[in-house]
Amino acid sequence: MKAINADLHCHSTVSDGLLAPADVVRRAHENGVELLALTDHDELGGLAEARAAAAELGLGFVNGVEVSISWGDDQTVHIVGLGVDPEHAGLRAGLESIRSGRDSRAARMAAELDKVGIHGAYEGALKHVGNPALISRAHFARYIVELGHARDVKSVFDHWLAKGKPGYVNHAWATLEDGLRWIHDAGGIAVIAHPGRYRLSGAERLEMYGMFRDLGGRGIEVISGAHKADDVAEFAHIARKFGFLASRASDFHGPGESWIDLGKLPDLPDDLTPVWTHF
Ligand code: AMP
Ligand code: MN
Ligand code: MN
Ligand code: MN
Repeated sequence: MKAINADLHCHSTVSDGLLAPADVVRRAHENGVELLALTDHDELGGLAEARAAAAELGLGFVNGVEVSISWGDDQTVHIVGLGVDPEHAGLRAGLESIRSGRDSRAARMAAELDKVGIHGAYEGALKHVGNPALISRAHFARYIVELGHARDVKSVFDHWLAKGKPGYVNHAWATLEDGLRWIHDAGGIAVIAHPGRYRLSGAERLEMYGMFRDLGGRGIEVISGAHKADDVAEFAHIARKFGFLASRASDFHGPGESWIDLGKLPDLPDDLTPVWTHF
């Protein structure tokens, strides 16, 4: 049986993507995607527009969100909630509480960047943000590229914004307990986003997966735009071992700024249960 072209993780201008929600949907459709989830960071505001655009094109659509979580010793983990009710008051309040920390974090980042010669970064990043409450490292990266200090967003992260680099500041996002509770209360399925991107030890990883499962988490992105072949094998193994549903997820942010385009992903290993059997 031919696998369906599902892509259950991407971003619009509502958070740190480059395309408006309806344009993300149109591009996904052009690329052959059959089931799409828009998963903006900590925000549900693009879902109505995306859903309407998907309905017009006859494209399957799942409401999504990518929740920023702090776990362990200042580790950031992203959890995607799929099939959430965007009107759910508890989820909305929870996401609002995460967003409210972004502005002061951005000010702290700008102060650190100023010390290493990158001036005006707060105002500069804001020029790239649709919704100021969603100011993110991606917007800082675009400003630093615009200044000519780096040739692309990825090298900005490598030099300034990744953990341990001069512009990185510690920040408390939601706890794993809270994030999963908001997703579940809103009727969603929680999925570990891009597990290959976390700098965790083997033991820490197993602890995180176990805690996630104990809190009712169901899925993991086995196929991700951020994953190499080795990662796919590793996370397919984790899905089998923990009984997780498997997701397929580009994490597309915009043309020229992403590892992989919408829907242009390898298929899931065929013994895994796709998370979209639930939609
Ligand atoms: P924030 O939520 O403000 O910490 O920003 C995180 C976002 O920065 C991610 O969702 C990506 O869009 C982007 N990002 C993080 N690491 C990288 C990287 N190494 N290269 C490019 N973009 C990155
Ligand atoms: Mn992002
Ligand atoms: Mn992420
Ligand atoms: Mn993402």
